[in-house]
Amino acid sequence: MIELQQGEIARLRELPPPTVRAIIGGSLCAAVSGRTRQVVSPIDGAAFAEIPECGPEDIDRAVSAARKSFEDRRWRRMTPKERKRILLRWVALIEAEALRLAVLETRDMGMPVRMAAELDIGFAIDTLRWYAEACDKLYDELAALEDNVTAMIMREPLGVVGAILPWNAPAMVGSWKIGPALITGNSVIVKPAEDASLVLLRIGELALQAGVPEGVLQIVTGAGVAGAALAAHRDVDCIAFTGSGEVGRSIMAASAASNLKRVSLELGGKSANIVMADAPDLSAAAEVSVRFMFGNQGQVCEAPTRLFVERKIRDRFVAEVTAKAKALRIGDPLDLSSDLGPVVSATQFAMINERIVRAERDGARLILDGRHAPVPTKGFYMGPTIADNVDPQSSLAQEEVFGPVLSVFAFETLDEAIEAANATRYGLGASIWSRDIDAVMYAAKRLVAGNINVNGGAGPVVELPYGGFKESGFGRDRSFHAIEKYAETKNVILRTAR
Ligand code: ADP
Repeated sequence: MIELQQGEIARLRELPPPTVRAIIGGSLCAAVSGRTRQVVSPIDGAAFAEIPECGPEDIDRAVSAARKSFEDRRWRRMTPKERKRILLRWVALIEAEALRLAVLETRDMGMPVRMAAELDIGFAIDTLRWYAEACDKLYDELAALEDNVTAMIMREPLGVVGAILPWNAPAMVGSWKIGPALITGNSVIVKPAEDASLVLLRIGELALQAGVPEGVLQIVTGAGVAGAALAAHRDVDCIAFTGSGEVGRSIMAASAASNLKRVSLELGGKSANIVMADAPDLSAAAEVSVRFMFGNQGQVCEAPTRLFVERKIRDRFVAEVTAKAKALRIGDPLDLSSDLGPVVSATQFAMINERIVRAERDGARLILDGRHAPVPTKGFYMGPTIADNVDPQSSLAQEEVFGPVLSVFAFETLDEAIEAANATRYGLGASIWSRDIDAVMYAAKRLVAGNINVNGGAGPVVELPYGGFKESGFGRDRSFHAIEKYAETKNVILRTAR
């Protein structure tokens, strides 16, 4: 638990970012080209740091360092216990500056600091610790064949793993990939999103301090060019990606055109939230739905962006959701009393506005219009928007907005709700609220999504796998299931004389 004190946050927000260099090999580096990118805070639109704009030549450097570290086995030949000790030391170093990192994340991408502490940094610490502790608790398999044959099914690391990250919860999503990839013995190159790199740079620097050997965890900043170079590199064995469908497709194409590197994709969603009239507590359902939908300004892959309410409670429930959304306080995300901060960038701000205009053109009626919410004058702030009368085929109902925009629908029967919930190309998450266990299990088996929350479910936890069906991608982050993405199995069949 990270202790949050407003005075301490005020002090930390004035500190410069601890690390503004890429981490390649064991050094902190500028880009070979010398190019840099300004880091603009969405809190006030002002630049407050510069980071390297890495290109293909920097990716080449990182890949050769990663390859070298993998081939000389400096990491995987250590005993799992030794690796665990180093990883736990790393986690302790991250934990020692957790609040500073949370404040840095908030300055970099705008997430309210409470959420940055609990969800982004806090959950990253939990995840890395969970995998570190698991490091010496992984066993391989033996198969029974003939009496004098010992058949081993061994798990082996893939080699060089590239993790390409989004900006919405960088440390958290990063830890979901770095943790399992490292404990299986891989060398990992992280390419954070250009809008949120600072925390990962520091986390990478702390890994070196903790004793993770050089080349085993590298952080290369930059934009799509750097990501594309990693995806197309013939000496990278795997790309673990979270981001947009468009980029996910280009990564698969790059893999097909190069060395058939393994790819796993988490590509967002358009999650349905089904509220039945017999929900155990409608007020609690409204509260959780609003927090889940609008937390982090709606910039959450699994955000329940389509609300389906049983017709007979629809007006009452939607009124309660609207009142709660309207009551959210929008302001400086470093102020502990703010519920919502800004969206990540001017580009994202313009895109979300454009989506709202388009939704209205497509016939949607705005019950709440976030463009008119009272917000700070500088920075990229907007309030929650709730749209009714949304055409199920329209872009608002079908495509991810990645902003604070909720669509509401009514339904008569559960079958109708399930069918509508499944009628997008995504399949990341779904929620259902009902007291009727038969209805709940009926729906849970028919909803096409990787994570079904019933009556509130649970927030994200490392113990459960995470990922989607359909065009939300494939492969799972978190839990032991994630390990399969970073390992190959090898049979060693030993025939003995006796
Ligand atoms: P978002 O819509 O969440 O910004 P993107 O898919 O655009 O998601 O970006 C996610 C990550 O993918 C970022 O780190 C970005 O720099 C990287 N990226 C962008 N274009 C490419 C590409 N063509 N190949 C590989 N990575 C890319």
